[in-house]
Parts: sequence; structure tokens; C-alpha cells
Amino acid sequence: PPPSAQQVAQALHEVFGFSSLRGVQDQVVDRVLEGRSTLAVMPTGAGKSLTYQLPAVLLEGTCVVVSPLIALMHDQLRSARANGIRAATLTSADADWRETLDAFRAGQLDLLYIAPERASQPQFRELLASTRIALFAIDEAHCVSEWGHDFRPDYRLLRPLLDAFPQVPRLALTATADHHTRQDILAQLGIGEDGLIVAGFDRPNIRYAIRPRDSIARQLKGVIDDNPGPGIIYAPTRAKVEQLAETLGKSTGRPVLPYHAGLAPEVRARNQSAFVGSEDMVMVATVAFGMGIDKPDVRFVAHAGIPKSIEGYYQETGRAGRDGDPSVAVMFWGADDFARARLRLSELDESRQQSERQRLDSLAGLVETADCRRAVLLRHFGETPPARCGNCDTCLEPVDVIDATTMAQKLLSA
Ligand code: ADP
Ligand code: MG
Repeated sequence: PPPSAQQVAQALHEVFGFSSLRGVQDQVVDRVLEGRSTLAVMPTGAGKSLTYQLPAVLLEGTCVVVSPLIALMHDQLRSARANGIRAATLTSADADWRETLDAFRAGQLDLLYIAPERASQPQFRELLASTRIALFAIDEAHCVSEWGHDFRPDYRLLRPLLDAFPQVPRLALTATADHHTRQDILAQLGIGEDGLIVAGFDRPNIRYAIRPRDSIARQLKGVIDDNPGPGIIYAPTRAKVEQLAETLGKSTGRPVLPYHAGLAPEVRARNQSAFVGSEDMVMVATVAFGMGIDKPDVRFVAHAGIPKSIEGYYQETGRAGRDGDPSVAVMFWGADDFARARLRLSELDESRQQSERQRLDSLAGLVETADCRRAVLLRHFGETPPARCGNCDTCLEPVDVIDATTMAQKLLSA
């Protein structure tokens, strides 16, 4: 029989130090403990790891976790071990394979993290057959779908492995999956439609605004002047990052630092920690900045050009206001952004073109809309929001309806 509610609460408290589950975590954990396969779509920071780590502790047998990056696995490993969970990884970066294999075979591991390419190896399937598997957790599950923004062919190798253990439940986890990607994840991983659980994506304290770009340095100065707290400005290129950081530092008198992958690692680390510790700093950055940065009091996120997709927009703007206090997200777009993105489409394989074009069309839809921005955003993530949020530019000020697609086509044919 599945563990009782009391056992769940006790493990949550004693192992993880949490007083309660958050949001949809309890729905997901309940399903998993009942042995039912599930796809959980939960925003970044919602606590996806706990939804497999808690069952891993409670259930008999090992939870096998598929994760796309060694760095992610080692982060997870550290935090799991810090909680006293018996966890290990089997990656090329590990020297203790033999110990891990012995512990696994002896049923002494709660969690085993593996990369997807491992899944296709016959020895690995034999290894799994040598002990009891409680659960397959597939993290970053959008990687299995060509519709997703980060397709990894290796994720397709998982299905035969999962099917070799039909009695073991599957828990797929992702932060970013539109309707197509979700349906595809369910199909690719053999999870029934009734297994889909979607968490609340709304960030009510973020005020969204999307404006045409004219004089970007002046427009960004306006955003900075209006928002005295810490902020992030995303710029499309390293050169633009450098240029804007310099200009805005002078024009606003605020501390402004650049961040991009072309800076020396020690400079990046220094700028990042200065930002995290500051109450008024502005970071001008490429999208390389933000992953894994825990700064709850970011008061604004501005985009100096269009993001890659609605998923990217949601993720990047979502770095504002994690503390729940009022925050703003402002995007400045140009028809040339869309024109350039459309030109780049033509360089892709035919199969990628279709999904990337749709991604760009969805983004154009958000930019062009006279409807509530939040409603468009939330509908994209499968929710049914109220028609008007009252906390975005189109709700607060009437806007001109702009056709970004036509403008981009005009630019291209000029
Ligand atoms: P995700 O993978 O969804 O982005 P994580 O699993 O990394 O999120 O969790 C984000 C943070 O939330 C972690 O610091 C985690 O310890 C914390 N967290 C998760 N669940 C809870 C909970 N029920 N109560 C308090 N904190 C939680
Ligand atoms: Mg995660």
C-alpha cells in the first residue's frame, strides 16, 4: 500500500525540513506514490525535484532520474546528500562507479541520476533489472520533443528502457511546454492523457509591458529611472551588452555591469556576486545570465530586443519579483528583430523550421496583441485566465494595434 499522509508529512519534515508541500506538489506526489505515470508541468522554482525525491525516500527501491546535464546532476546530488538521501550519479565525471554499482545492486540507493545516452546501453538495462526500481523520473522532459525548445535526440532512447519495466511508474517534469510539446511528451514517454498536471504559471506581481523600440538607450534609462531596485536588461549580442552597460552607467548614475559568455570566468563570477548582493544594481546581460541565480528582489527585467520564444520570455521575465513584491517586465521590440529571426529560420532543417516558425508566430502574437498580455501568456501555457488582468500595459493603457508580422515582411522585401 502507498505510504500514509502521516508518513509523507513526516519524511517531508524530517528529511527535507519543509512544513508542507506547495502548489501542485501534493497532487504529483500522490499520483507517484499510487504508481501512476504523470507529466508535471511546473514553472522554474516551483519545486519539481521534491516531487520525485520525496517518493524516492518513501518508496522501496531506487528512483532512477534522467537529467540532461552533468552539472545539473551534480547540483542535485549535492543537495540530496546534504539532506541525508542516498544518491549517486553515473557519469563520465565520476570516479566512484564501482561503489555506486555495488550500492545500487544492493538496493542501497534512493536516487540514481543518469544521462539519457546511458539508457540505450544493454548493460544498463541489465543493471536496472538487478534490483528494484521504484520510479523513473525524467527531468527536463521537453528535451524528448522536437516541438520543445531544446530537443535532445538522446531522450528518444528512453522509451525502450521504460517499456522494459512496464510496472515502474514514470514521472516526466518540465517547466516549459506548450500544448504541442506536452502532447508529444505524453506520447513519446507513454504517459496517459489523464496524467497531465499543470501548475499555476501566473506571476501576478509582475506588470508586463511590450513597446516598440525607438531610441533604446533613452527608453532603458526611463525604465531604470522609474525603478530604483535591482534590475536585469537582456540584450541580444555581447557587443550590445557592452555598449548599453557603458552608456547606461553614465546616463543613469546607477551601478551597471555587463555579463556575457565572452567575459573571463572570474569577471563573470565577480559581476554576478556583486549583483546578487546589491540593492540598486543593473545587470546588462545576454541570456547566458540568470540560470541558477537566486535573487528574490529583482524589481525589473527589460528586453532590449525580442526573446527567442514565449517560453524564453516567461523564463527571463520570471526572474523579476520572486519575493512577490511589485515588479515590472518591459520588452522593447523592433520589426527588424522579427525580420532577422525569420531569416535565421531559412537556415534550419525543414523539420525544425516548422516548429521554430510557430514559436516565432506565437511570440509575434504576444507582441501584437491588444488583448491582455498576461492572458495571452497564460493561455500559451494551457491555462484559462480571466480576460483582463489589470496589471499589464494593454489593460492599463489603450494601445495601438501593431502588426509586427507585416512590418517584418515589409522590411524583408524592401
Ligand atoms: P524546479 O526544479 O521546479 O525549478 P527546485 O526543485 O529546484 O525547482 O526547487 C526550487 C526551490 O524550492 C528549492 O530551493 C527547494 O528546496 C524549494 N522547495 C521545493 N519544495 C518546497 C516546499 N514544499 N517548501 C519549501 N521549499 C520548497
Ligand atoms: Mg529542476
